[in-house]
Amino acid sequence: MASGLDDVKEALKVISLGQAKLLSAVETVSQRVSELEKEEDRRRPASTGIDGIKRTETPLAGGFTPSPSAVLPAEAGTQSPPPSSASPDVKSTFSSRVVLTTYPKQLGIRPLSLDWGAADPLQRGPVTVSRAPSTIGRRNAIGAHGGSYSIYYALAVASRELDADHKPDYTNTEPAVNIGPFPQWGDKKKIVAMDPWGHLVPWLFKDTIEKENGMSSMAHMKLPELEESVKSGRLVPDGKVCLNASGELSVTKFAVEPVWYLPGVAERFGIDEGTLRRSLFEHTGGMYPELITRSDIKVFLPPIGGLTVYCFGDPARMSDSTKRLALRIHDECNGSDVFCSDICTCRPYLMFGIEEAVKEAQKGGSGVVIYFRKEGRALGEVTKYLVYNARKRGEDRASDYFKRTENIAGVKDMRFQALMPDILHWLGITKIDRMLSMSNMKHDAIVGQGIPIHERVELPSSWIPADSRVEIDAKINAGYFTTGHRMTEEELKAVQGRNWEE
Ligand SMILES: [Zn+2]
Repeated sequence: MASGLDDVKEALKVISLGQAKLLSAVETVSQRVSELEKEEDRRRPASTGIDGIKRTETPLAGGFTPSPSAVLPAEAGTQSPPPSSASPDVKSTFSSRVVLTTYPKQLGIRPLSLDWGAADPLQRGPVTVSRAPSTIGRRNAIGAHGGSYSIYYALAVASRELDADHKPDYTNTEPAVNIGPFPQWGDKKKIVAMDPWGHLVPWLFKDTIEKENGMSSMAHMKLPELEESVKSGRLVPDGKVCLNASGELSVTKFAVEPVWYLPGVAERFGIDEGTLRRSLFEHTGGMYPELITRSDIKVFLPPIGGLTVYCFGDPARMSDSTKRLALRIHDECNGSDVFCSDICTCRPYLMFGIEEAVKEAQKGGSGVVIYFRKEGRALGEVTKYLVYNARKRGEDRASDYFKRTENIAGVKDMRFQALMPDILHWLGITKIDRMLSMSNMKHDAIVGQGIPIHERVELPSSWIPADSRVEIDAKINAGYFTTGHRMTEEELKAVQGRNWEE
C-alpha cells in the first residue's frame, strides 16, 4: 500500500515539474511575442493608432477567405464558422476562425487601461469594445456600441451594405453645447450606467477606432398640445424658448447610449458583481461569454435602449444651483406618447411636463424632460398588450390594475430607477425645484443619490383622459404622490375603464 502511495506521489511530482517547465516556456514565448509586438509598433507609422496586435494570414476554412486576424491561441475559445454560401470571388469581411471568447492570461490580450471614475479623461481611457482584428486583444469592455442597434450594424455588415472598416468622417459633428466636466464625472459611485466622456470620444481619443456613445444637438419642435397651451393663454410665446403662437419650441437635446460599469451597477442593486454577470450572461442566451471569462473587464455595453434629454432654456442653467429647475423623467410609452392612445396618462404627462419645463425656462430657470427607452415599464409592448387584453376582457377595475400585470409578467414593473439618476449627475444637476412626476420609485432613486427634490407636482386632473382613470387611480392607491384624494380599496373597485366592446 505504502509503495503504491509513494508511486502516486512521485507521479504527481513529475506532473507538477512538467507543468512548471511548460509555464516557464509559455512565459518565454509570451515575452518574445510582446517584444515582437513592440518592434512592430515602432516600425508602423504613427497614424495607425492603437493597433498593436500581430496579424497573420489564415488559411481558408468553412468558405471564408483569408483576412487579417489577431494572433490568439487558436484552440482556446475559437471555432470554425458555419459554412458560408458566399461566392468564392467575393472577399469576406470575417476571418477564418471565430474567437468565441478571450481569457485574461491568453497571449495577445493586453486590454487598454480603463480607470473608471478617473477625473482626467486621458487617465480614464477610451471604452474599447470593437472586435476588429486591431482591437480584439485590446478590448476593455464587453458588448457592442449602439445598444440594441448593434444588431442592425451586424446585419448591415453581414449583408455587405456596410464595410466593417468604415472610418466615420467627424467633420462638423462636434457637440452642439458644452456640458461639464463636473466633479460628478470623476466619481465612480455617481456615474455607473453611462460614459461621461462618451460624446467626446472621437476628439479625446483620436487614436482609437471606437465610436462615440453620447451626443448633443439642437432642434425646433411643434406639438399640437402646446399650440393649445398658447391659445388658452397658459403659455406666452417669448420668441426664445416658445417661439411663436403655434407653440413651436426651441430645444437642446442630448442622446445617451448605455455603458455599464458592472461593479457600480451591482452595488446600486445591492447584489454582488458575480451574480449580475451570471444573470446577464444566462438571460441573454449566452450572448456575451466574456461576462463569465473576463472578470478583469468591468465595463459592459448592454443591448438596450438609451435616453434623450430635452433641455429648454440655456443648458448652462441646469447645473447652476442659483437657478430654478423643473424636471420630468419620462419612460417611453409608444402607444400614448406617439400614437395618442387614451388608456394611460403618458402623453398627457409628457405634454404637461414640457409645458411646465418651458415656463420654468421662460422665468430664467431651466426646464428638462428626460425620455428613457423603457417601453411598457420595461416589460415591452407585447407584454403590455397581453395586460391590456386581460384588463379589457375582464372588468378593467383600478383595484385589479397592478394584479393583471403581475399575473402575466411576474412583476409589476421592471424599470428599476436605480440607474436613472446617472444622467442628472452627468448634467451637473444638484437639486430639483419642481419634480413633474408622481412616481415614488423615481423620487426615491433621485433623493437616494443625494439630489434633493423641493416640490413634487402631480398631473392636473384636467389633463387625464377618462379611460386612463383606472391607471392613475390605481397608481395613487399604490402610493404614487398626490395632494388630492387617495381612494380606498372599495372606491377603487368602482373605477372602471371602457370594456372590450366599446
Ligand atoms: Zn402609457
